[in-house]
Amino acid sequence: MSKVYDVVIVGGGPAGLAAGLYASRAKMDAVIVEKGKLGGQAATTEELENYPGSIEHPTGPKLMERMRVQAEAFGTEFLKEEVVGFDFTEKIKTVKLSKGELKTKTVIYATGAQPMLLGAPGETELRGKGVSYCATCDADFFTELEVLVIGGGDAAVEEAIYLTKFAEKVTIVHRRDEFRAAKSIVEKAKNNEKINVIWNTVVEEIYGDGIVEGVKLKNIKTNEITDFRTDGVFVFVGTRPITEAIKGYVELDAKGYVIGDEEMRTSVDGVFAAGDVRVKSLRQVITACADGAVAAVNAEKYIEKNFEDVELPDAKKEGGWV
Ligand code: NAP
Repeated sequence: MSKVYDVVIVGGGPAGLAAGLYASRAKMDAVIVEKGKLGGQAATTEELENYPGSIEHPTGPKLMERMRVQAEAFGTEFLKEEVVGFDFTEKIKTVKLSKGELKTKTVIYATGAQPMLLGAPGETELRGKGVSYCATCDADFFTELEVLVIGGGDAAVEEAIYLTKFAEKVTIVHRRDEFRAAKSIVEKAKNNEKINVIWNTVVEEIYGDGIVEGVKLKNIKTNEITDFRTDGVFVFVGTRPITEAIKGYVELDAKGYVIGDEEMRTSVDGVFAAGDVRVKSLRQVITACADGAVAAVNAEKYIEKNFEDVELPDAKKEGGWV
């Protein structure tokens, strides 16, 4: 039989990296399967001020890189592959990849969330041609130009502030008359001379001939439509869970988030969910890491209970751990 992992961790964001660290430190055979870049959304967040200790600029990418190095140092394997499905019917579970499969005793699903599309005409056609969902990735293209940011949450306001380092002027368009973002972030934006806010307004259309030239704005109080010329449009209107691979295998809520408990257990024994992908009240790097740690510890407990042949570290066998 091919190798059987103790845990296959799907997703290499903060939740997956923390799970890898905890699993490997517990001497579990752990692999993180990630189809894209490691670090998840946090790796594209230039200013990550609310993770304790993350004070070295640029905080997001550096912190994620350190998490990767640390997990690897303790023995976590990394596999760049896409997970396309599972088989949870046997005691040894199967993780189906776009090429091949992995056998494992437990799974930690930590795929996180991804940006939601606005749904306005022109958005998809002009994606990558002035429409962006990642300021860290694309801000540089807009040096000394004017950009528009859509949304009023932490991401929109934080990324607008970051964009002012490059762009000449940043206009935030928000559909209400107050931000959802944390007060500390809003204060910073208010004090930034390059940021201008248009309240009670939505973007009806993004237009341009092969490249963004402007947007049609609609004031939702007056229904007035106006034309607004801009060089770029950054969309931050929320995120959605990435559950394509696990849909149909574990219980999800109405919005598509994985339902689990405080021990990160899902509706299937031996399958855990951690980070932004699960139902929870606070989606931050700190809570994703905590989820990853809890999931790994409970995966270890599950193996001890369900696999008699499990190799325990010597001290544990002798009852030397308290
Ligand atoms: P979010 O908190 O869900 O905010 C989405 C924003 O987009 C809201 O202001 C919402 O307006 C607006 N919106 C939604 N649909 C819209 C539409 N169709 N047209 C126009 N506006 C629309 O999403 P997020 O800012 O991406 O953050 C996602 C999660 O990550 C949150 O839990 C957030 O706290 C976390 N996060 C944290 C940090 C940090 O702490 N440093 C940074 C980034 C993200 P309404 O306000 O009217 O609903």
